[in-house]
Amino acid sequence: MSGAGPNACAAPPVGADGILRERGQREVFCGLTGIIWLHRKIQDAFFLVVGSRTCAHLLQSAAGVMVFAEPRFGTAIIEEKDLAGLADANEELDRVVTRLLARRPDIRMLFLVGSCPSEVIKLDLSRAAQRLNQRFAPNCHVLNYSGSGIETTFTQGEDACLAALVPELPFSDARQLMVVGSLPDVVEDQFLRLFADLGIEKVVSLPARRAGAMPGVGPNTRYLLAQPFLAETGTALDKRGAVHLSALFPFGAEGTTAWLHAAAQAFGVSEDRFEMVTAPPRERARKALAAHRDKLAGKRIFFLPDSQLEVPLARFLAGELGMGLVEVGTPYLHKGHLIDELAALPPGTLISEGQDVEKQLDRVQASRPDLTVCGLGLANPLEKTGLSTKWAIELVFSPIHGYEQAGDLAELFARPLNRRDLLRV
Ligand code: SF4
Repeated sequence: MSGAGPNACAAPPVGADGILRERGQREVFCGLTGIIWLHRKIQDAFFLVVGSRTCAHLLQSAAGVMVFAEPRFGTAIIEEKDLAGLADANEELDRVVTRLLARRPDIRMLFLVGSCPSEVIKLDLSRAAQRLNQRFAPNCHVLNYSGSGIETTFTQGEDACLAALVPELPFSDARQLMVVGSLPDVVEDQFLRLFADLGIEKVVSLPARRAGAMPGVGPNTRYLLAQPFLAETGTALDKRGAVHLSALFPFGAEGTTAWLHAAAQAFGVSEDRFEMVTAPPRERARKALAAHRDKLAGKRIFFLPDSQLEVPLARFLAGELGMGLVEVGTPYLHKGHLIDELAALPPGTLISEGQDVEKQLDRVQASRPDLTVCGLGLANPLEKTGLSTKWAIELVFSPIHGYEQAGDLAELFARPLNRRDLLRV
């Protein structure tokens, strides 16, 4: 852990667009992490990581192992003998998959998930998926994507997975709204009820909860991103002719209203009806947020780059809870998808893209924020220096979207501050 360096207080150099870009050492989880929430979402899919014992340990420790349930993720471990020859590795992979599918006929979609080791030995998982698909379709559809930790961050695993699904979706000419991003079922159901109340007749989700129910896509599809980290998936949907509805992301009362409003406008819902449907839950969300405003208003927050949720969450915390933004770091800044979010940030907010962890930690120490949002590995060292932290990954695992979760989202940020106050007493 670094203390404040000699230049820590100097303003960091920013680009012509006002954004600080950093390229240095990174401290983030890899894309395999996404399997933890994706395997819960697509209930008849299996995620087979082709990787090392390190990959297996990461998954097991992050996801836990259910003793009585058959897990729906696993690791085909690349042994030393596999490193000697690709032919062996391919044969071994085919053997593992054949054994798995014979034992688990309930698996309808199998993702071969690439890792650092499979990339290092240049194991071509897209060819392996094609080969295995010919053998096991239509009972089981085999796809592949990379969750490798080289130059990625952990939410990119979901983006890569959904982007791999898009070319496989059937064509559909239906006029429909597609909600893109893996949401907890309870949150997805809340949104589906709101869209139904608005009178939007056909609403589909990507991913669907079952492999056989993946939606169609085509030029009459309008899609809303539920997560800000789906850059590749958005590009893949654009290629299929779908049209992105630009909006704030559905965090907090205002974000959720703007997100729903974008769909309402695209589907010709009247303003009166929109108001009638959204006013009651919006009011509930505002009340829930008010309970945390005293604790959070005026507090200063620093986001280290981790989940790619940073910009929308910063907008929510500043706009709806009155927090001050010291720095909003994000691993990648997809300006196209974040255009509304960036416009809604307080003027002059320092945004940094990428990571140079030592320099960022120096800036954290120099500015001494009330709360720092960061990865697991950085939290304890920062706490040791007297700073309060929030794990970024917790924000991805918790239901935080929509009106009904707005209060819970605020509480996630208030909790570390409350805890510190209690410790102080
Ligand atoms: S994919 Fe790479 S970064 Fe992720 S656990 Fe495996 S070896 Fe580590």
